[in-house]
Amino acid sequence: MNSSVENKFKVVIVGAGPAGIGIAIGLAKGGIQPIALIDRADRIGGLPAKYVVKKKGIPTFMVWTRARVLFGQQYVEFLQQELDRTDTRVHLNAQVISVNKASKEITLVSPDLGRQVWKADSIVFACGARERTITERGWISGKRPARVYHTMQLLDLLDGNACLPMKHPVILGSDLIAYSAAAKLRIAGAEDATMLDKAPSPKSNPAERLYFRWWCQPTWTSNKQPVSIQGSDGTKTVETKDGRALECDGVVVSGELLPNSELAAAAGLEVSMPNRLPILKGKSSFSEPGWFATGNVIGGFHGAQWCYFHGRKVAKSVVDYLTR
Ligand SMILES: Cc1cc2nc3c(=O)[nH]c(=O)nc-3n(C[C@H](O)[C@H](O)[C@H](O)COP(=O)(O)OP(=O)(O)OC[C@H]3O[C@@H](n4cnc5c(N)ncnc54)[C@H](O)[C@@H]3O)c2cc1C
Repeated sequence: MNSSVENKFKVVIVGAGPAGIGIAIGLAKGGIQPIALIDRADRIGGLPAKYVVKKKGIPTFMVWTRARVLFGQQYVEFLQQELDRTDTRVHLNAQVISVNKASKEITLVSPDLGRQVWKADSIVFACGARERTITERGWISGKRPARVYHTMQLLDLLDGNACLPMKHPVILGSDLIAYSAAAKLRIAGAEDATMLDKAPSPKSNPAERLYFRWWCQPTWTSNKQPVSIQGSDGTKTVETKDGRALECDGVVVSGELLPNSELAAAAGLEVSMPNRLPILKGKSSFSEPGWFATGNVIGGFHGAQWCYFHGRKVAKSVVDYLTR
């Protein structure tokens, strides 16, 4: 072992969301160890862990295999039980800040460990995605008045602070996340939202829309042309190119995700710009041997359980690579 390398693993997984947990479980079932599962957060579960169980809340995590819809927190508890049956070494509060393509080393920083370099035979990115900012989305212009939120910010306000930031919302976006935001606003006391997207019909699937009809019935409007948000101190209207002005007192921008592929790109692994999509062969591995990606970091929008099963599938490719 190189003298500066503090730890050595068969596989290091960056990100302990559903995809990272899925791959850890799949690798354990394939007899691979030791495995390190690293997350910068103080708990496992990734994004679903933020959706805590709440009285009068709306469960939005569809678990097809159990024919149930759970709160994110409940789904994570279920994943935790599965993970506990493996010997995976989970390292929380640890941020991976760089990876080395040639030596398969990662550098991480953590309050407990300081700065360390770890080495592995294979490295998996399961770092998820983040929502595009308003400027990155291109479709939205105009002023930047107060009360324009991403869905994660909205969630923090509604769930975290019990605060209703708007009564007459316009939601830009129409996938599962957008419908979930509309429903959460409605039960918190807002009116049914007006929902606007450049797609000709809502991006969420009919089953998802049917589920959310129990709580909300947003007014849908398709608008291919860019829209602009207007208002000075607060948001007043969302204006469309064909002259419509949708009155509102707040806007939620939802749903377009950008892969967290910065680590891979900085290491010289193939990532296409500006969309930051990892360029993969066979849907999970980089052209550089031993480097894999799973879950939302590969691009597109996927529900949590899809990401978990994707992790399980990619684990098989990693096992093949290690035992070849
Ligand atoms: C706003 C929003 C709402 C959603 N709502 C739903 C819903 O209601 N139902 C549903 O089924 N799906 C929902 N989804 C989708 C679902 O949450 C994702 O599909 C799923 O969480 C993706 O899993 P993942 O493991 O790929 O990524 P994530 O869950 O995002 O996990 C990635 C993990 O990687 C960690 N990480 C990233 N970079 C580093 C680093 N450098 N070092 C260490 N750790 C790192 C992060 O801390 C995070 O824990 C939503 C997504 C979004 C964005």
